[in-house]
Amino acid sequence: MSIAPIGILGGTFDPIHYGHLRLAQETLEQCGLAAVRFIPSGTPPHRDAPHASAQQRLEMVRLALQGNPSFILDEREVHRNDPCYTVDTLTALRAELGAQQPLCLLMGGDAFMMLHAWHEWKHLFELTHIVVMQRAACPSTRGRPLGNAINEADAALRSEYHARLAPAPSALRDSPAGAILVADMPALEISATDIRRRCSEERDIRYLLPDAVVNHIQSHHLYMKC
Ligand code: ATP
Repeated sequence: MSIAPIGILGGTFDPIHYGHLRLAQETLEQCGLAAVRFIPSGTPPHRDAPHASAQQRLEMVRLALQGNPSFILDEREVHRNDPCYTVDTLTALRAELGAQQPLCLLMGGDAFMMLHAWHEWKHLFELTHIVVMQRAACPSTRGRPLGNAINEADAALRSEYHARLAPAPSALRDSPAGAILVADMPALEISATDIRRRCSEERDIRYLLPDAVVNHIQSHHLYMKC
């Protein structure tokens, strides 16, 4: 079997920025993905409530993805009122897209190092591959390749990592789920936290995120008190 995988990028996107968009584009190209679905979170189970409302975050993702037919906005999580776990979203996607379709959950190295804290995290491997895009200056790996940083990770996560590590992106086309691929992307030192702080200090946020999103933030006075 050789089917182009579909990428899935979840996040609070509070706001979405070029770090997220480059993560998706790099993976699309390196892994030959058919498309990337961006899934803004509703009520994130693991972290404080986002600063912008779910509708605002959704609108910013919509604006950021305009003009790229390979990037698809998936609204399913923001329309739920209860806490929504990634494993639930992937179960629904798997039912819609069929048992054979390879899925790839995309994440940065920082997010992967905390995977063992996710709800039913081992079940994720039955539903999806995981593609970890490591950045040169990722704080959780302190600039070291993930292969080195993983030695200090949670023991169960380390063991899954070693058992599932795929040698090349082509492995992602051969099965629907279960592999971990580590790929490199140029580091873009952009974070939503930093953008929110700049907004609250009334500093310029241009060139960190698409102009349409900058305009939306400014016209709705978002992140003035973060
Ligand atoms: P915050 O600063 O509020 O924590 P964030 O900018 O890290 O937000 P998230 O929505 O938490 O954004 O991240 C979603 C995904 O995007 C995560 O897997 C994260 O690793 C990845 N990511 C975030 N920023 C970057 C970046 N600059 N380059 C590559 N990947 C990134």
